[in-house]
Amino acid sequence: MKRVITIDGPSGAGKSTMAKEIARRLGFEYLDTGALYRAVALYLRDRGYDEGITDNKLREELKGVSVSFKGGKVFLLDRDVSDKIRTPEIGHYSSVFSARPVVREFLLDLQRDFAKNHDTVAEGRDMGTVVFPEADCKFFLDASPEERARRRFLQLKAMGKEITEEEALRDVLERDRRDLSRDVAPLKKADDAIYVDTTELSLEETVDFLLKQISNNCGRLSR
Ligand code: C5P
Repeated sequence: MKRVITIDGPSGAGKSTMAKEIARRLGFEYLDTGALYRAVALYLRDRGYDEGITDNKLREELKGVSVSFKGGKVFLLDRDVSDKIRTPEIGHYSSVFSARPVVREFLLDLQRDFAKNHDTVAEGRDMGTVVFPEADCKFFLDASPEERARRRFLQLKAMGKEITEEEALRDVLERDRRDLSRDVAPLKKADDAIYVDTTELSLEETVDFLLKQISNNCGRLSR
């Protein structure tokens, strides 16, 4: 395995922005695992499925799924779905389908294969606990639900999506509940992950903190 940095945490904690920036600064690849769950959700929704889908049907449907990243874009089969996976509806269903062991098992190899070929900053919910337990450096990013909802609201608004701050908060709380309570790979800080509360931190302050930790406390990544 190449060098791996994991960034886990609840939605809206700033994981994507941080993972992208740390990857850029260190010359690593960025692995957005939420995009994988979103692409699977889009595929299943396009085919008319919801939470009622049986495990057998899920297994069968997933045989038709191939997700890849090229030039910062996400491809489902050969279709660029980078924008289509960012809707609130797909956010909801990615959280619903990600609770299914069949889906998690399906995406596991894909995530590990990625890190076989590239030095990677992997972002998600179970990077440090399940997918890359041997990672060189692990972070768990957190922030208050209100702050995370505010960030989600601004992000979706900037993308031209219709949403109120109340809806963003409801969405964040509902996803927290589902991510924390599922039986397989629930959102959980790895014992050896560094906990970072970003509620009061600017992006620049958070990047600086993470980079400092990487150069001081992260095994073969430290100078
Ligand atoms: O991070 P993002 O909001 O794009 O992730 C979409 C959903 O996919 C999350 O709400 C979460 O339920 C699920 N997910 C997961 N494990 C990951 C990444 C995302 O369960 N490693």
